[in-house]
Order: sequence, then C-alpha cells, then structure tokens
Amino acid sequence: MQKSLVVRGEIFIVRRHLMSETITDDRELLQVRLWARVKPFNIRSNDCALWGGHRLPAGYGTLQDPRTGKPIYAHRLSWELIHGPIPEGHVIRHLCDNPSCVRPAHLKLGTQKENMDDRKRNQREKCLPDLTDEDVTALLYCYQTGRWSQGDLAKMFLGSGAGQPTIQRILSGKSYKKAKGPRTNKGRGRKPGRRKK
Ligand SMILES: [Zn+2]
Repeated sequence: MQKSLVVRGEIFIVRRHLMSETITDDRELLQVRLWARVKPFNIRSNDCALWGGHRLPAGYGTLQDPRTGKPIYAHRLSWELIHGPIPEGHVIRHLCDNPSCVRPAHLKLGTQKENMDDRKRNQREKCLPDLTDEDVTALLYCYQTGRWSQGDLAKMFLGSGAGQPTIQRILSGKSYKKAKGPRTNKGRGRKPGRRKK
C-alpha cells in the first residue's frame, strides 16, 4: 500500500516534470488533452473537427495549458502539435472560417495581415442578398398577417436571422421605398425604438 503510493507519487513528479518541458517532450499528453475534447466527426470527409470544450464568445476553443496553467487556444495547440511552435508575429488562420474548428488540415500559418484580409473577405461574403421590389411586397404582406416575426422573415427572405435589422428598415419604410405594400411597425417582434443600434 505504502509502496504503491510512493510509486504513484514518483510518477506524478515525472509527469509534472514532463509537463514543464516543451511541447515536443509532452506531445502525447497534449494530444490526448486536445482530441478528448473534440466532437466526433467523419475523418474521411472534409468536415470540421469542432471543439467540444470551453469556447470564447467568438467561438474559439480554449483549454488549460498543463505546462503553464494558463488558457491556450485549441486551434493554435492543434497546429503546434504537428508543426512546432508558432513563429512570432504569426497567427493560425482557419481555412474553413470556423473558429471552433481544430482540424489540422483546416488550419494554416499566416501573418496578421493575411488574417485581417480573411476577415474582410468573409464580411463581404456574409453580405445579405438584395431583395427585388416583388420580394419586398411579399414580405410586407407576410408581416401584416402577424404570423411571422421580423427574425422569421429575415430567415425566409434573406437566409439568415442576422438580417432582422434589414427587415426592420423595410417595414418602417426606411429602405425599399418604391416597393408597394403595407408599411407598419406594429405586429410581432421588437419595436424599432427600443433598439439602440
Ligand atoms: Zn474546419
């Protein structure tokens, strides 16, 4: 009993020692720590490997670095475990634009500038589609029925709930002024005046 405790204690010390070493010395432990928190995904597909552990509001996964006790980014660790330390002044870019993804094939070393360019490009791609005047007329009548909220209409007509402010501007007559149909702020959904932004 006593003996096994000592052995355990020794193993623990060895572990602690290993953990204070660089990644290459403790690669296996970190690999386990990382991949134990990844949601199952089809490895034969190009699917993202989504982080199932703690995430920051922006979606980036974090975990505690056993070497320092400090939180580190999961996607950065994933890249480092394969390629080694990230050179100074560099960032790890998500080729899949999914901040929660830690799949090595979706990660690429880049400069801060390249990362900013990625972001700009994404924002442009995330622009909502333009509506025709016919679409807007249909939308106005839909809202008039009271069956759909502004968020519902954003999903139906723009493909994303993020388009709710656009819908709000249409309903209140601030945009698509030429389109025919009933303009009203009444009905379901939040009233425009209560929204600060
Ligand atoms: Zn991905």
